[in-house]
Amino acid sequence: MKIYIDGRYYSKEDAKISVYDHGLLYGDGVFEGIRIYHGTVFRLREHCERLYRSANAILIRIPITIEEMERAVIDTVALNNKKNAYIRLIVTRGVGNLGVNPLTCEKPSIIIIVDDIQLYPEEYYAKGINIITASTRRIASDSLDPRIKSLNYLNNVLAKIEAIQSGCLEAVMLNQNGYISECTGDNISIVTDGTIMTPASHYGALNGITKGAVIALAEKLGIPCRETALTQYDLYTADECFLTGTGAEIMPVVSIDGRLIGNGMPGEITKRLIASFSEEIAAQSG
Ligand code: PMP
Repeated sequence: MKIYIDGRYYSKEDAKISVYDHGLLYGDGVFEGIRIYHGTVFRLREHCERLYRSANAILIRIPITIEEMERAVIDTVALNNKKNAYIRLIVTRGVGNLGVNPLTCEKPSIIIIVDDIQLYPEEYYAKGINIITASTRRIASDSLDPRIKSLNYLNNVLAKIEAIQSGCLEAVMLNQNGYISECTGDNISIVTDGTIMTPASHYGALNGITKGAVIALAEKLGIPCRETALTQYDLYTADECFLTGTGAEIMPVVSIDGRLIGNGMPGEITKRLIASFSEEIAAQSG
């Protein structure tokens, strides 16, 4: 395994960053999770654009161009010789002193890890999963814009613990005003009366790349789709529910807080989207 750090490659054992890196000290940094399908990096440009926008929003100036970043990712993938895998791309504020002040940090660090992906069992896609509503709220979007994919995941971590303690894989989080935002590592969508609905980002949701792909697919398939405000009522009374994320792809949800969604089986529109998404992956990776 070869891990890229600031233009050089290291083995897993030797890939280390300073304990003075503000990414470690303060969660001061941004990241992306990206898939490789059949040797092709999926939607690399979109991920890099989101990374640079996240960095820009927190005043990190990534020291290489977006084209150089894409090249670094592709080179690291090639060096690791993996056909179906996961890429973790991280940019930290870099090494500074122990104070919060980011201006003490000389230069952001870039890390690229290519590793095997832990896929969910097929059964989950066929039967759907159960989720809960977490009591941990999403960080208010006027405190930390949810479009910034930052290294601050503590509230997601707490919500994930709630999910696990309830025997679930995922938990949906509400925002400060009680609207549905997203899950700990996935966006959430519902289908009601044939329309797909998903929380708009200002309700506390990351602008998910998989969600974007689903919205585009829905348009192609002629399924109405809206980014809107959703409450727990909307979730509980939905005909279908599904999660989207780089790791999960499109995952049907069949119960929330012990309440069955629709008939408790993955919905027809969800299944159509899953099939179309697989076709898109096959087409993109040639
Ligand atoms: N929300 C959160 C909090 C996430 O961490 C992720 C995964 N990156 C997503 C949503 C899904 O986004 P994407 O489809 O871009 O992976």
